[in-house]
Amino acid sequence: MEFNMSDNIFLDEAIKKQPGITQHFFDMVNNNDLSHAYLLNGNSGVGKKATAMSATMALFCKNKTNEKPCGECNECRRITEGQHPDVVFIQPDGQSIKVDQVRTLKAEFSKRGVEGRLKVFIIVAAEKMTDNAANSLLKFIEEPSGDVVSFLLSTNKNLILPTIISRTQVIDFPALSNHFFDTELSNIKVNPNDFNLLKSLTNSLETAINLMDDDWFDKAKLAVEKWFNYLYKKDYCAFTTIQIEIMPLIKDKDNKQNIINMMLQIWRDMLSIKYLNSPKDEIDFVDDFNNINHFVDNITSVKLISIIQIMLECNNKMAINLNFQNILESTTLKILSKLK
Ligand SMILES: [Zn+2]
Repeated sequence: MEFNMSDNIFLDEAIKKQPGITQHFFDMVNNNDLSHAYLLNGNSGVGKKATAMSATMALFCKNKTNEKPCGECNECRRITEGQHPDVVFIQPDGQSIKVDQVRTLKAEFSKRGVEGRLKVFIIVAAEKMTDNAANSLLKFIEEPSGDVVSFLLSTNKNLILPTIISRTQVIDFPALSNHFFDTELSNIKVNPNDFNLLKSLTNSLETAINLMDDDWFDKAKLAVEKWFNYLYKKDYCAFTTIQIEIMPLIKDKDNKQNIINMMLQIWRDMLSIKYLNSPKDEIDFVDDFNNINHFVDNITSVKLISIIQIMLECNNKMAINLNFQNILESTTLKILSKLK
Protein backbone atom coordinates (compact mmCIF):
# COMPACT_ATOMS: atom_id res chain seq x y z
CA MET A 1 0.00 0.00 0.00
CA GLU A 2 1.39 3.38 -0.95
CA PHE A 3 0.19 6.49 0.78
CA ASN A 4 1.67 9.93 0.65
CA MET A 5 2.32 11.28 4.10
CA SER A 6 0.08 14.10 5.24
CA ASP A 7 0.71 16.59 7.99
CA ASN A 8 -1.78 14.85 10.21
CA ILE A 9 -0.05 13.19 13.17
CA PHE A 10 -2.71 10.52 13.68
CA LEU A 11 -2.94 9.57 10.01
CA ASP A 12 0.81 9.38 9.69
CA GLU A 13 1.16 7.25 12.81
CA ALA A 14 -1.63 4.85 11.84
CA ILE A 15 -0.27 4.37 8.33
CA LYS A 16 3.28 3.90 9.56
CA LYS A 17 2.52 1.58 12.45
CA GLN A 18 -0.50 -0.39 11.27
CA PRO A 19 -0.86 0.00 7.51
CA GLY A 20 -2.94 -3.19 7.11
CA ILE A 21 -5.49 -2.47 9.81
CA THR A 22 -5.76 1.19 8.78
CA GLN A 23 -6.45 0.26 5.16
CA HIS A 24 -9.00 -2.29 6.36
CA PHE A 25 -10.89 0.49 8.18
CA PHE A 26 -10.73 2.78 5.15
CA ASP A 27 -12.17 -0.04 3.03
CA MET A 28 -14.98 -0.69 5.48
CA VAL A 29 -15.88 3.00 5.64
CA ASN A 30 -15.83 3.18 1.88
CA ASN A 31 -18.05 0.10 1.50
CA ASN A 32 -20.39 1.22 4.26
CA ASP A 33 -19.41 -1.92 6.07
CA LEU A 34 -18.45 -0.57 9.46
CA SER A 35 -19.84 -2.28 12.57
CA HIS A 36 -21.28 -0.39 15.53
CA ALA A 37 -18.50 -1.19 17.94
CA TYR A 38 -14.86 -2.12 17.82
CA LEU A 39 -12.48 -3.21 20.51
CA LEU A 40 -8.94 -2.31 19.45
CA ASN A 41 -6.69 -4.42 21.62
CA GLY A 42 -2.90 -4.36 21.88
CA ASN A 43 0.16 -3.06 23.68
CA SER A 44 0.55 0.62 24.35
CA GLY A 45 2.28 2.39 21.51
CA VAL A 46 1.11 0.09 18.69
CA GLY A 47 -1.13 2.77 17.14
CA LYS A 48 -4.61 1.97 18.44
CA LYS A 49 -5.65 5.56 19.04
CA ALA A 50 -4.13 6.75 15.77
CA THR A 51 -6.05 4.03 13.91
CA ALA A 52 -9.34 4.91 15.62
CA MET A 53 -8.77 8.59 14.82
CA SER A 54 -7.95 7.83 11.20
CA ALA A 55 -11.04 5.65 10.79
CA THR A 56 -13.09 8.47 12.31
CA MET A 57 -11.59 10.97 9.88
CA ALA A 58 -12.43 8.61 7.04
CA LEU A 59 -16.06 8.69 8.24
CA PHE A 60 -16.31 12.48 8.26
CA CYS A 61 -13.76 13.74 5.72
CA LYS A 62 -15.23 15.58 2.74
CA ASN A 63 -12.01 15.52 0.79
CA LYS A 64 -10.83 11.92 0.55
CA THR A 65 -8.46 10.53 -2.05
CA ASN A 66 -8.61 6.77 -2.69
CA GLU A 67 -10.51 6.13 0.55
CA LYS A 68 -7.88 7.99 2.54
CA PRO A 69 -9.03 11.02 4.56
CA CYS A 70 -7.17 14.26 3.81
CA GLY A 71 -6.22 15.01 7.41
CA GLU A 72 -6.50 18.73 6.72
CA CYS A 73 -10.09 19.71 6.00
CA ASN A 74 -12.28 21.29 8.63
CA GLU A 75 -13.74 17.93 9.69
CA CYS A 76 -10.37 16.17 9.91
CA ARG A 77 -8.81 19.05 11.75
CA ARG A 78 -11.54 19.28 14.36
CA ILE A 79 -11.37 15.50 14.94
CA THR A 80 -7.59 15.69 15.37
CA GLU A 81 -7.86 18.57 17.81
CA GLY A 82 -10.61 16.88 19.81
CA GLN A 83 -13.04 19.67 18.89
CA HIS A 84 -15.48 17.83 16.65
CA PRO A 85 -19.01 18.03 18.06
CA ASP A 86 -19.90 14.51 16.95
CA VAL A 87 -16.75 12.80 18.15
CA VAL A 88 -16.37 12.26 21.88
CA PHE A 89 -13.51 10.86 23.92
CA ILE A 90 -13.62 9.18 27.27
CA GLN A 91 -10.53 8.41 29.24
CA PRO A 92 -9.94 7.32 32.83
CA ASP A 93 -10.69 9.91 35.46
CA GLY A 94 -7.97 8.87 37.92
CA GLN A 95 -7.76 5.09 38.15
CA SER A 96 -11.01 4.22 36.43
CA ILE A 97 -13.68 5.18 33.95
CA LYS A 98 -16.72 5.83 36.08
CA VAL A 99 -20.40 5.39 35.37
CA ASP A 100 -20.96 9.16 35.48
CA GLN A 101 -18.58 9.61 32.57
CA VAL A 102 -20.61 7.18 30.47
CA ARG A 103 -23.84 8.90 31.53
CA THR A 104 -22.43 12.28 30.51
CA LEU A 105 -21.46 10.82 27.16
CA LYS A 106 -24.95 9.47 26.59
CA ALA A 107 -26.55 12.76 27.62
CA GLU A 108 -24.30 14.76 25.35
CA PHE A 109 -25.08 12.55 22.42
CA SER A 110 -28.80 12.66 22.97
CA LYS A 111 -28.66 16.44 23.32
CA ARG A 112 -26.85 16.74 20.04
CA GLY A 113 -28.93 13.92 18.64
CA VAL A 114 -29.86 15.23 15.28
CA GLU A 115 -31.63 12.33 13.64
CA GLY A 116 -29.45 10.38 11.26
CA ARG A 117 -26.32 12.31 12.09
CA LEU A 118 -23.28 10.15 12.60
CA LYS A 119 -21.63 10.10 16.01
CA VAL A 120 -18.41 8.47 17.11
CA PHE A 121 -17.05 7.88 20.54
CA ILE A 122 -13.62 6.64 21.48
CA ILE A 123 -12.95 5.13 24.89
CA VAL A 124 -9.30 5.11 25.83
CA ALA A 125 -8.19 2.41 28.33
CA ALA A 126 -11.58 0.71 28.19
CA GLU A 127 -10.30 -1.99 30.56
CA LYS A 128 -10.48 0.67 33.27
CA MET A 129 -14.26 0.96 33.08
CA THR A 130 -15.95 0.06 36.34
CA ASP A 131 -18.57 -2.69 36.01
CA ASN A 132 -21.26 -0.03 36.41
CA ALA A 133 -19.75 2.06 33.65
CA ALA A 134 -19.46 -0.98 31.38
CA ASN A 135 -23.06 -1.99 32.00
CA SER A 136 -24.24 1.53 31.34
CA LEU A 137 -22.29 1.51 28.08
CA LEU A 138 -23.76 -1.79 26.90
CA LYS A 139 -27.10 -0.43 25.77
CA PHE A 140 -25.39 2.40 24.02
CA ILE A 141 -23.17 0.25 21.84
CA GLU A 142 -26.09 -1.96 20.97
CA GLU A 143 -27.97 0.98 19.52
CA PRO A 144 -29.57 -0.36 16.37
CA SER A 145 -30.06 2.98 14.63
CA GLY A 146 -26.71 2.67 12.92
CA ASP A 147 -25.62 6.20 13.53
CA VAL A 148 -23.20 5.56 16.39
CA VAL A 149 -19.80 3.99 15.97
CA SER A 150 -17.73 3.23 19.03
CA PHE A 151 -14.06 2.44 19.38
CA LEU A 152 -12.94 0.91 22.66
CA LEU A 153 -9.18 0.88 23.06
CA SER A 154 -7.57 -1.56 25.43
CA THR A 155 -4.17 -2.94 26.38
CA ASN A 156 -5.74 -6.00 28.00
CA LYS A 157 -9.04 -7.32 26.69
CA ASN A 158 -9.08 -9.98 29.43
CA LEU A 159 -10.05 -7.25 31.86
CA ILE A 160 -13.11 -6.26 29.86
CA LEU A 161 -16.55 -7.67 30.66
CA PRO A 162 -17.46 -10.57 28.35
CA THR A 163 -20.80 -8.91 27.67
CA ILE A 164 -18.93 -5.96 26.15
CA ILE A 165 -16.53 -8.20 24.20
CA SER A 166 -19.39 -10.17 22.71
CA ARG A 167 -20.96 -6.99 21.35
CA THR A 168 -17.83 -5.63 19.72
CA GLN A 169 -15.64 -6.65 16.83
CA VAL A 170 -12.31 -7.38 18.44
CA ILE A 171 -9.23 -6.35 16.47
CA ASP A 172 -5.94 -7.50 17.94
CA PHE A 173 -3.11 -5.15 17.05
CA PRO A 174 0.16 -6.94 16.35
CA ALA A 175 3.33 -5.78 18.10
CA LEU A 176 5.32 -3.31 16.04
CA SER A 177 7.69 -4.90 13.59
CA ASN A 178 11.26 -5.27 14.79
CA HIS A 179 12.58 -2.76 12.32
CA PHE A 180 9.93 -0.21 13.21
CA PHE A 181 10.55 -0.67 16.92
CA ASP A 182 14.28 -0.14 16.37
CA THR A 183 13.55 3.11 14.56
CA GLU A 184 11.33 4.27 17.39
CA LEU A 185 14.02 3.38 19.92
CA SER A 186 16.55 5.40 17.91
CA ASN A 187 14.14 8.31 17.95
CA ILE A 188 14.13 8.32 21.74
CA LYS A 189 17.94 8.24 21.71
CA VAL A 190 18.45 4.68 22.90
CA ASN A 191 21.97 3.42 22.27
CA PRO A 192 21.72 0.72 19.53
CA ASN A 193 23.81 -1.59 21.74
CA ASP A 194 20.94 -1.53 24.21
CA PHE A 195 18.15 -2.42 21.73
CA ASN A 196 18.26 -6.17 22.38
CA LEU A 197 18.21 -5.90 26.15
CA LEU A 198 15.46 -3.29 26.08
CA LYS A 199 13.39 -5.47 23.75
CA SER A 200 13.83 -8.41 26.12
CA LEU A 201 12.23 -6.27 28.80
CA THR A 202 9.35 -4.86 26.77
CA ASN A 203 7.75 -4.61 23.36
CA SER A 204 5.91 -1.45 24.25
CA LEU A 205 7.38 1.88 23.22
CA GLU A 206 5.71 3.62 26.12
CA THR A 207 7.30 1.21 28.61
CA ALA A 208 10.65 1.65 26.88
CA ILE A 209 10.35 5.41 27.32
CA ASN A 210 9.53 4.91 31.01
CA LEU A 211 12.54 2.63 31.42
CA MET A 212 14.86 5.26 29.94
CA ASP A 213 13.38 7.90 32.23
CA ASP A 214 15.86 9.26 34.77
CA ASP A 215 18.50 6.94 33.28
CA TRP A 216 16.91 4.05 35.16
CA PHE A 217 17.77 1.58 32.42
CA ASP A 218 21.44 2.66 32.26
CA LYS A 219 21.85 2.55 36.02
CA ALA A 220 20.16 -0.83 36.28
CA LYS A 221 22.25 -2.27 33.48
CA LEU A 222 25.43 -1.02 35.13
CA ALA A 223 24.42 -2.49 38.50
CA VAL A 224 23.60 -5.87 36.97
CA GLU A 225 26.91 -5.89 35.08
CA LYS A 226 28.76 -5.17 38.31
CA TRP A 227 26.89 -7.95 40.11
CA PHE A 228 27.67 -10.36 37.31
CA ASN A 229 31.37 -9.50 37.18
CA TYR A 230 31.78 -9.97 40.92
CA LEU A 231 29.89 -13.22 40.75
CA TYR A 232 32.03 -14.48 37.99
CA LYS A 233 35.17 -13.72 39.98
CA LYS A 234 33.52 -15.59 42.89
CA ASP A 235 33.84 -12.35 44.81
CA TYR A 236 31.45 -11.86 47.75
CA CYS A 237 31.09 -8.23 46.77
CA ALA A 238 28.33 -9.61 44.49
CA PHE A 239 26.34 -10.02 47.69
CA THR A 240 26.83 -6.44 48.88
CA THR A 241 26.10 -5.12 45.37
CA ILE A 242 22.47 -6.07 45.97
CA GLN A 243 22.05 -3.69 48.88
CA ILE A 244 24.37 -0.95 47.66
CA GLU A 245 23.76 -0.82 43.91
CA ILE A 246 20.51 -2.56 43.19
CA MET A 247 18.10 -1.83 46.01
CA PRO A 248 18.28 1.97 45.52
CA LEU A 249 16.88 1.38 42.01
CA ILE A 250 13.80 -0.40 43.28
CA LYS A 251 10.72 1.79 43.57
CA ASP A 252 7.98 -0.52 42.37
CA LYS A 253 7.07 -4.00 41.21
CA ASP A 254 8.06 -3.34 37.60
CA ASN A 255 11.55 -2.31 38.72
CA LYS A 256 11.88 -5.64 40.54
CA GLN A 257 10.77 -7.67 37.56
CA ASN A 258 13.04 -5.77 35.18
CA ILE A 259 16.07 -6.29 37.43
CA ILE A 260 15.38 -10.01 37.65
CA ASN A 261 14.93 -10.20 33.89
CA MET A 262 18.20 -8.36 33.31
CA MET A 263 20.05 -10.67 35.71
CA LEU A 264 18.56 -13.64 33.95
CA GLN A 265 19.42 -12.31 30.50
CA ILE A 266 23.10 -11.86 31.21
CA TRP A 267 23.37 -15.55 32.16
CA ARG A 268 21.31 -16.49 29.13
CA ASP A 269 23.74 -14.49 26.99
CA MET A 270 26.52 -16.54 28.42
CA LEU A 271 24.71 -19.76 27.61
CA SER A 272 23.93 -18.72 24.06
CA ILE A 273 27.53 -17.70 23.42
CA LYS A 274 28.74 -21.02 24.81
CA TYR A 275 26.14 -23.24 23.19
CA LEU A 276 25.27 -21.44 19.98
CA ASN A 277 28.34 -19.35 19.38
CA SER A 278 25.99 -16.39 19.19
CA PRO A 279 27.58 -13.34 17.62
CA LYS A 280 27.75 -10.00 19.38
CA ASP A 281 24.64 -8.53 17.79
CA GLU A 282 22.43 -11.41 18.91
CA ILE A 283 23.01 -11.16 22.62
CA ASP A 284 21.40 -8.70 25.06
CA PHE A 285 24.45 -7.35 26.85
CA VAL A 286 26.23 -6.35 23.65
CA ASP A 287 28.77 -4.15 25.45
CA ASP A 288 29.82 -7.11 27.60
CA PHE A 289 30.34 -9.50 24.70
CA ASN A 290 34.12 -9.66 25.00
CA ASN A 291 33.95 -10.02 28.72
CA ILE A 292 31.38 -12.83 28.61
CA ASN A 293 33.16 -14.51 25.74
CA HIS A 294 36.25 -14.65 27.87
CA PHE A 295 34.31 -16.22 30.75
CA VAL A 296 32.52 -18.98 28.88
CA ASP A 297 35.54 -21.23 28.54
CA ASN A 298 35.82 -21.59 32.28
CA ILE A 299 32.32 -22.79 33.04
CA THR A 300 30.50 -25.96 32.10
CA SER A 301 27.12 -25.86 30.40
CA VAL A 302 25.66 -27.88 33.26
CA LYS A 303 26.68 -25.20 35.74
CA LEU A 304 25.35 -22.47 33.50
CA ILE A 305 21.99 -24.16 33.16
CA SER A 306 21.69 -24.69 36.89
CA ILE A 307 22.47 -20.98 37.46
CA ILE A 308 19.75 -20.02 35.02
CA GLN A 309 17.45 -22.37 36.92
CA ILE A 310 18.31 -20.54 40.15
CA MET A 311 17.51 -17.22 38.46
CA LEU A 312 14.16 -18.52 37.21
CA GLU A 313 13.20 -19.50 40.75
CA CYS A 314 13.24 -15.78 41.59
CA ASN A 315 9.96 -15.45 39.70
CA ASN A 316 8.26 -18.01 41.93
CA LYS A 317 9.53 -16.21 44.99
CA MET A 318 8.29 -12.91 43.60
CA ALA A 319 4.88 -14.45 43.04
CA ILE A 320 4.53 -15.27 46.72
CA ASN A 321 5.73 -11.79 47.69
CA LEU A 322 8.92 -12.66 49.52
CA ASN A 323 11.10 -9.72 50.46
CA PHE A 324 12.88 -8.62 47.30
CA GLN A 325 16.28 -7.95 48.84
CA ASN A 326 16.18 -11.38 50.50
CA ILE A 327 15.30 -13.02 47.19
CA LEU A 328 18.28 -11.43 45.44
CA GLU A 329 20.70 -12.04 48.28
CA SER A 330 19.82 -15.71 48.69
CA THR A 331 19.95 -16.12 44.90
CA THR A 332 23.40 -14.52 44.83
CA LEU A 333 24.67 -16.87 47.56
CA LYS A 334 23.28 -19.86 45.71
CA ILE A 335 25.01 -18.84 42.49
CA LEU A 336 28.28 -18.21 44.36
CA SER A 337 28.18 -21.70 45.83
CA LYS A 338 27.48 -23.15 42.36
CA LEU A 339 30.52 -21.35 41.00
CA LYS A 340 32.84 -22.50 43.77
ZN1 LIG B 1 -10.47 15.65 5.59
